[in-house]
Amino acid sequence: MIEFRSVSKKFADGTLAVDDFNLVIPSRKTTVLVGSSGSGKTTLLRMINRMVDPTSGTVEIDGESVLDRQPVALRRSIGYVMQNSGLLPHFTVVDNVATVPVLNGVPRKVARQQALELLDTVGLNRDIANRYPSQLSGGQQQRVGVARGLAANPNILLMDEPFGAVDPIVRAELQQETIRLQRDLDKTIVFVTHDIDEAFLLGDQVVILEKGAKIAQVGSPSEIIENPASDFVADFIGVDK
Ligand code: ATP
Repeated sequence: MIEFRSVSKKFADGTLAVDDFNLVIPSRKTTVLVGSSGSGKTTLLRMINRMVDPTSGTVEIDGESVLDRQPVALRRSIGYVMQNSGLLPHFTVVDNVATVPVLNGVPRKVARQQALELLDTVGLNRDIANRYPSQLSGGQQQRVGVARGLAANPNILLMDEPFGAVDPIVRAELQQETIRLQRDLDKTIVFVTHDIDEAFLLGDQVVILEKGAKIAQVGSPSEIIENPASDFVADFIGVDK
């Protein structure tokens, strides 16, 4: 379980990106943070792996504050998939996936073998293992990004608009793949998107955010659709209240 307790984040320029945020993210489910641009989704996500630290409040994983964890070690224990895949351009596909396990001390040969198996897991053909990222399609790059996120076998996978830059058909495939991965691998997935349809498709728990990461509503897709908490939510999800 991940728990945000009274978390705020004010950036150096005075922007209050997150204002007293409280949320429990259950383990082994998919929680989707959804909201318009600038609502604070990415900032929240990055506070889980200490890419950003809160100005006040705590983020806990299974009861332990992340602030007590060494940032680099924490980041290597949590999968992170971003919009532009984040692949290293001068590394082949297999080495991109094997990098984090190697840094974690797994022998290179073992890590590369596991990386090949992860290509199967994310629906990629092993034939592309020795290509460079620039030699892949956008959808393939994102799949490699997901494989990379899974490489250290993390319990938690953070996904920040991972399918934002691919075309709708590939996007639908990747969404189905994410549902399958969650079901088969039993990960805690925290997924950021501005697309409410994607949020309802993927989320066991959906968190609708307004500016300052103010929670407009949190619940299962059916709870939100059947009973939107406010005009803002009704408008955001496109139903009449
Ligand atoms: P998007 O969907 O556009 O990615 P978001 O919901 O993920 O947006 P954040 O990226 O978390 O939103 O940003 C929340 C607010 O904090 C925005 O007003 C943004 O401009 C601001 N912000 C984010 N990072 C910084 C930073 N390093 N310095 C100053 N302000 C920042």
